[in-house]
Amino acid sequence: MASTASTPGSPDAGPSPVPNSTQPFWRTELHELDNHRSTKDLPAEADIVIIGAGFSGAALAHYIHEDNASPPSVVILEAREACSGATGRNGGHVKPDVYFNVPKYIRKHGVKAAVEVANFEASQLRAVKELVEREKIDCEFTLTRACDVILHEAQAKEAEEAHEQLVKSGVADLRDVQYTSRKHAERVSGVKGALCAWTYTAGHIWPYKLVMHLLQGVVSKGANLQTHTPVAAVSGEPLSDGRWLVTTADRGAIKAKKVLFATNGYTAGLAPQFKDRIVPVRGICGRIIVPSGSPSSQEPAQDGTVTQNTKQAPFLPMTYGLRYGPGLYDYLIPRNDGSIIVGGTKQTWWHEKEHWYNVVDDSTLIEPALKEFEGLMQRRYIGWEDTGACVDRIWTGIMGYTSDSMPYVGHMPGKPGQMVLAGFNGHGMPLILLSAKGLTKMLMEGTTFEETGIPSPFKATQERLDNTGNAILEAVPASKPSAVL
Ligand SMILES: Cc1cc2nc3c(=O)[nH]c(=O)nc-3n(C[C@H](O)[C@H](O)[C@H](O)COP(=O)(O)OP(=O)(O)OC[C@H]3O[C@@H](n4cnc5c(N)ncnc54)[C@H](O)[C@@H]3O)c2cc1C
Repeated sequence: MASTASTPGSPDAGPSPVPNSTQPFWRTELHELDNHRSTKDLPAEADIVIIGAGFSGAALAHYIHEDNASPPSVVILEAREACSGATGRNGGHVKPDVYFNVPKYIRKHGVKAAVEVANFEASQLRAVKELVEREKIDCEFTLTRACDVILHEAQAKEAEEAHEQLVKSGVADLRDVQYTSRKHAERVSGVKGALCAWTYTAGHIWPYKLVMHLLQGVVSKGANLQTHTPVAAVSGEPLSDGRWLVTTADRGAIKAKKVLFATNGYTAGLAPQFKDRIVPVRGICGRIIVPSGSPSSQEPAQDGTVTQNTKQAPFLPMTYGLRYGPGLYDYLIPRNDGSIIVGGTKQTWWHEKEHWYNVVDDSTLIEPALKEFEGLMQRRYIGWEDTGACVDRIWTGIMGYTSDSMPYVGHMPGKPGQMVLAGFNGHGMPLILLSAKGLTKMLMEGTTFEETGIPSPFKATQERLDNTGNAILEAVPASKPSAVL
């Protein structure tokens, strides 16, 4: 049984990172700063302490230092290795949702806010691309199209109707969205049993390399990065001079004017007001390879012969989301090296919430998920039956799901000087960069949240913290769903 959020510390301790995490593919080529400590001892004080060295923490540090000749003193405290949380173990998919959840968000938050979220997501992909190109970041950023495929009859009908309504209403920007109906869905997607499909611009990336580049940039500008330094507590009240005391588990404390929580799924461990509002949720990813016997990757022998013992895998030109029913999906990101990163695989375990809900243990796998990875390409993709595609590695990671499905960005309610950037619901790659940019403007220039362009539902408010609803558990099936195909 997976350990739940309270296991690592005392019985009522909140979520915190566990040791011995599984090794994701992205962390097989480690950066020289992976275990970095800029100074032997922690400084006693700092202008800004950032807790967490994932995409959020690194992006915040990046914007604090950008175009700043005399940056404030910044200390980044990371419990484990740099970029060893969700960012170092995700799918690498930068997939803005420009249509799928828009009808749901219109119902929940109104048209204006729903469209704000969709446009914000779309703009992030361009922002990530620009950043990568401007900074010449070696992270295999690839601009492509995402292909969402539905294989579940009732869900397909619902999605088609919702899409039709969205088109009719004219409220959302659907210029980049291509809908393919049943007649051609299988051929366009290459997925067996596809009932309908949508394609739109998306990207994929080596997330660890992106983050490590950002961290290297800020460290070279004077930021103090301290890995293997878990924070045990942030004082509940400010000190008499208005600063906050950030106490680490075993390396002393830092007095900080500003504390930025970039702790995603673990946020409630340090800020208990997020208990049941940002919930640690365990996910799983794997990498599938096509073995070297396949002609596509096989070198001819010295005599020029090639042994054709497996069939060439058909080219997959897009990234793929395969939807098997509400809340159940796989996503597949074919990489430029021929391998495929796969996430989701929830069909066999999502109904048993002890595998994932309030779980911080990324040192073990989700056992019922494993058989989903085996033979996935052969089962789902036309022409892949005899390719010999097989699993290379599987890992788990901890996401931050919010009880109202929206991230928390901005000033911490009731805690002047504390700010939060967390709760990305397993979808942070098209949300974090510009949220971090906006938050930094609030921090450095006193900009209001509303002036940043961050969608209004993301604002961290007391009202959201007081809301006891739980959208995370709403879509969980009561029992194991019947198999698709
Ligand atoms: C298996 C999996 C697949 C995913 N796939 C995708 C995908 O394809 N596309 C997508 O958009 N999103 C995906 N996500 C979600 C995405 O990875 C996250 O939204 C994003 O990485 C969040 O970044 P972050 O920096 O906020 O959090 P993290 O990367 O988790 O960073 C938070 C950091 O805070 C540190 N920390 C926490 N508590 C403390 C403490 N007390 N003291 C010191 N440090 C602390 C942690 O160790 C961690 O390094 C996936 C996530 C997982 C787990």
